[in-house]
Amino acid sequence: MISFALSEMQDNVRQMIHWFAENEVRPIALEADRSHEIPMAFHRKVKDLGISMGGLPKELGGEGGGLGAQKDGKGIKQGNRLAIIGAEEMAWGDPAVILSLPGPGLGGPPVNIMGTPEQKQKYLGIFKQEEPKWGAYGLTEPVAGSDVAGIKTKAVKDGNHYVLNGRKCFITNGARADWVVIFATVDPTKGRAGHRAFMVEKGTPGFSVGKIEEKMGLRASETAELVLEDVRVHQDCLLGGEKYYEGKEGFMGAMKTFDTTRPMVGAMAVGIARAAYEKALEYSKDQFGTARPSSRLSFNQELLARSKRRIDAARLLCWRAAWMADASVANAKEASMAKAYAARAAVDTLSDLVQVMGAAGVLNDQWVEKWFRDIKVYDIFEGTGEIQRIVISKRLIKDLKSF
Ligand SMILES: Cc1cc2nc3c(=O)[nH]c(=O)nc-3n(C[C@H](O)[C@H](O)[C@H](O)COP(=O)(O)OP(=O)(O)OC[C@H]3O[C@@H](n4cnc5c(N)ncnc54)[C@H](O)[C@@H]3O)c2cc1C
Repeated sequence: MISFALSEMQDNVRQMIHWFAENEVRPIALEADRSHEIPMAFHRKVKDLGISMGGLPKELGGEGGGLGAQKDGKGIKQGNRLAIIGAEEMAWGDPAVILSLPGPGLGGPPVNIMGTPEQKQKYLGIFKQEEPKWGAYGLTEPVAGSDVAGIKTKAVKDGNHYVLNGRKCFITNGARADWVVIFATVDPTKGRAGHRAFMVEKGTPGFSVGKIEEKMGLRASETAELVLEDVRVHQDCLLGGEKYYEGKEGFMGAMKTFDTTRPMVGAMAVGIARAAYEKALEYSKDQFGTARPSSRLSFNQELLARSKRRIDAARLLCWRAAWMADASVANAKEASMAKAYAARAAVDTLSDLVQVMGAAGVLNDQWVEKWFRDIKVYDIFEGTGEIQRIVISKRLIKDLKSF
């Protein structure tokens, strides 16, 4: 029999993060959306509480060495499950604020997966410092979003250095990041085999911030363009070292990252949809309690019931994908299923919930309006819904062939 219950430890983590989301994140979220800014005092408080976006590895005493390394009742590690439980609660608090929390962010998984021990120490070690620090993940380019294999940023070897030239766009926390994992190609004719990942630090000559984007949603989260003009980095900045790239590892490194981050992004979408569902349910409660039965009420009841079904189904897909990652079972298909379903389900749910609330649903101080704007991007970043469906169908065909 499959158990869907959280263990005592998982539930303690959930409750702790929920407390933080409710008491620290929610109070600043609406103002942060309006001003596009999160106060530094908030980031410092987050640091003091020991909360970070993206984990530190075992060697650095991060979550890998703490709760995440503790096995569950069946002897399976649980770092990925804890990450998605936390992601749902944090996004329930506010999705834009959570993306802006200090920590390695999306840059953490590639450093953890591909980095040498020295690189992990150097780049992840900074997050143990008292002051808030950020990492970022620079893959997308103006002509290479879904088609990441087509990146054009060039890396040319020059003695013990590489010289990087190119442009990255839509990089979360890109301007404030202390370092960015920059994906580049040493030979565009080699496709994925030519890809390399470099650690590029803020302040490196030639590395600058371009445009900071104005967005429909997630307005408090910084989305930046990064420009690389003759940026010289030492060969020690090549993530994983030269040997790592004998084959397709550079690109595969980026892909492995997605197997752990996609369920997390799905879980964030679940958290946003759940937050909106709770607001719409609260709004509707009085109507259900006192009003005469009417077609409007039964229609709204159906929208609320459909929202709850979608939220629960999406959460189960995210949990499954995270459990597989914890159990070291290949989960590319399930990670894409979780992300594709959760993001789309949340977009549709938010649309329904604004409808349930009528005009109140489009008022900024009623929250659901904000989350309606925030949610759309969850079906775009970390691989669009269409790309997830392509990944899923390719894997299904592969499974069929090997059957
Ligand atoms: C707020 C925000 C934050 C982001 N943060 C980061 C970050 O930190 N780091 C980073 O590297 N990137 C980041 N991104 C970029 C994000 O990953 C890309 O936007 C995403 O991969 C889609 O790429 P694109 O926007 O170029 O769309 P395109 O690839 O141009 O796609 C446009 C449309 O065409 C569809 N499409 C494309 N190819 C196919 C196909 N083969 N078959 C069917 N349909 C297809 C897509 O599904 C989509 O609907 C961020 C984006 C946003 C909006």
